[in-house]
Amino acid sequence: MTSTNKSKNTFALTTPVYYVNDVPHIGSAYTTIAADVVARFERLRGKPVLLITGTDEHGLKIQRAAQSAGLTPQEHCDTIAAAFDKLWHQLDIQYDRFIRTTSPRHQSIVLEFFQRVWDSGDIYSGRQQGWYCVSCEEFKEERDLLDGHRCPLHPNKEAEWRDEQNYFFRLSKYQSRLEALYQERPDFIAPESRRNEVLSFVAQGLQDFSISRVNLEWGFPVPADPKHTLYVWFDALLGYVTALLEPDQEPTLSQALATWWPINLHLIGKDILRFHAVYWPAMLMSAGVPLPEKVFGHGFLTKDGQKISKTLGNVIDPADLVSRYSSDAVRYYFLKEIEFGKDGDFNETRFVNILNADLANDLGNLLNRTLGMARKYASGCVPGVAGADIPSDNPLKARGLTLGEEVARAYESLAFSSGCEAILALVRACNKYIDDRAPWTLHKQGQQREVSEVLYSVLESVRLAAYLLSPIIPNISTEIYRQLGFKLQPLPELTPQTGQRAAAGHLDLVALKEPAPSALPEAAAPTAAPAFEAASPAQGQRWSKVLRPFAEAPAYLADALAETKGLLIAVLLLLLAIFAGNALVELARRTDRIPVVSPTLEAIGIGYTIWFIYRYALFAAGRQALFGNLQSLKQEFFGGNSPAAKIKTPPLALSTDTSPSAEGVSALPPLEAQPFAPDSPARYIDFNDRAAIAAAAPFSTHSRWGTLPASQPLGEAKPVFQRLQSAEPVSPSR
Ligand SMILES: [Zn+2]
Repeated sequence: MTSTNKSKNTFALTTPVYYVNDVPHIGSAYTTIAADVVARFERLRGKPVLLITGTDEHGLKIQRAAQSAGLTPQEHCDTIAAAFDKLWHQLDIQYDRFIRTTSPRHQSIVLEFFQRVWDSGDIYSGRQQGWYCVSCEEFKEERDLLDGHRCPLHPNKEAEWRDEQNYFFRLSKYQSRLEALYQERPDFIAPESRRNEVLSFVAQGLQDFSISRVNLEWGFPVPADPKHTLYVWFDALLGYVTALLEPDQEPTLSQALATWWPINLHLIGKDILRFHAVYWPAMLMSAGVPLPEKVFGHGFLTKDGQKISKTLGNVIDPADLVSRYSSDAVRYYFLKEIEFGKDGDFNETRFVNILNADLANDLGNLLNRTLGMARKYASGCVPGVAGADIPSDNPLKARGLTLGEEVARAYESLAFSSGCEAILALVRACNKYIDDRAPWTLHKQGQQREVSEVLYSVLESVRLAAYLLSPIIPNISTEIYRQLGFKLQPLPELTPQTGQRAAAGHLDLVALKEPAPSALPEAAAPTAAPAFEAASPAQGQRWSKVLRPFAEAPAYLADALAETKGLLIAVLLLLLAIFAGNALVELARRTDRIPVVSPTLEAIGIGYTIWFIYRYALFAAGRQALFGNLQSLKQEFFGGNSPAAKIKTPPLALSTDTSPSAEGVSALPPLEAQPFAPDSPARYIDFNDRAAIAAAAPFSTHSRWGTLPASQPLGEAKPVFQRLQSAEPVSPSR
């Protein structure tokens, strides 16, 4: 009973099923971000992953909250559940199931489970007397309450005295089996401090707890006695089981438990530890269901060193935070800055400083300056050296070779903070390495081989850092990969500020919502997005590649004009064009052999050509584009298997046409010319694209230092993370 099936290669994890008494707060966001990071990491490792979240919608507190808002309980739940769903989209949470406990399918599961526990003789009717905290939905021991019978977690609310007939669950019967469980499986509760908390609670002696309420309408009636309503926790915990059902599956326990059970990880806040680490395993034991693998309780958040509470008016609105700073920023701060499992603090000034230091300066500037040097010293390409040829005493290689495993262990043990630290250490080592080696001096001295080694090892280290950080900052990592020249499928438009994807509905592809009465709008059935689209460039399009740069010259000109030297360049070009035009006209007149159409038209044509050549000569991006176009033309006309032909043409720096058919797809060689190669790291581009990640090479390949393809043309450089300017105080909200 206490064993789990560790051999299965799937990974199922849950956030709490959040109570919908109010809109989501920062604590819920914190748990859910962490869960999403674990899910993304396990997906990188190639495991099928099921991330479950949802809302717990029954109980007295909901009934009262709805009443005070003048809504029916269901209306209230619909509004709040939608707010959760919206926030998860804003935070790039890629959940698989959103369970709502008001769904009829959930009722079927709860009733069947209740029956099993009933049949085990673990439910009886008895008298419940005691202090009840409505906010916790829990009876409190007298010894746990503060003065005036106030709940320690809700000190501004008095607990209510209750004396009623209830149904009880025989928790006391499971005292010794639970103790045995904690002994046999020391990692069942984590971290260590939570485990100790539970051990001492259980050592005090477990008391049966009531699983029904009278005078409560908003919930499922107890089957044997409909005057009673099932207690909210008995109902809510089973949301984890209901969520495992496929949308079209018959709602039975055996169906629900068939594929994903046992859950690998319940991620929770420490306030609901007892329900998950004591009540829940006992309920499962009673129903004869195997136990989950692990319960991890993280710490509480404070703001500026103070407890966060509505009374203090210092509530952090996560939706406001993410809209002002981007999801990557919020995700990174909470996972990097707070040791997961311990209490942690949010301070907006520190928030801004850390993001600027780590993401804008250390990581962003590093990439930017290195791309600049690659443009100067390596024709805008990854230098043509292989990672394997770089000596192992290279400080970046030495560090990078073990980093993948180290970070994987950190993710596995939910030590996000130390994982980030290890990655950032490599990034900082890169900055130091560049300063030490001074590639600009090496270049002057003609030591091209050394310059290549420096640039390659830095670019590769940035790639590795982006890959390993991708579960936490998927948008920034995607942008870094793009700038490193990985581009095999068209990207949706990027928003200018953060490089975040614009609302492309990418979650809707994979999100499976639990159907519920008057529920959230149902998502489409999951459809695997094609990893890339078949491209069949028409004959005429070949020449459009040659001609396109001419058509885009005005855009280049506009760009140059916007630059500081633009006006000077324009004037010089104009003079040059007039001079050349006149000279040509003069020549034509003298020889009297060239028909003169119009000196003005000729002047424009010649000026245009000179500008075009100048543009390509001056800017690396232009050279790359020309190079890429010529390569793909060569590929189409002569076939061939040169490494460069496998790499997709980088985009023109100023292409204004972002439609996939014009830019991305037509530039791809046809499918036959580029067979699906899952072991090619160059395929990997969008860390939000689950289909692409599932099809990509394994974690062991990408997390190995030295896999950046040599001579890969680099993409256009731009800041991957805009420096945050100031810390406006978070509006005290709600
Ligand atoms: Zn309470």
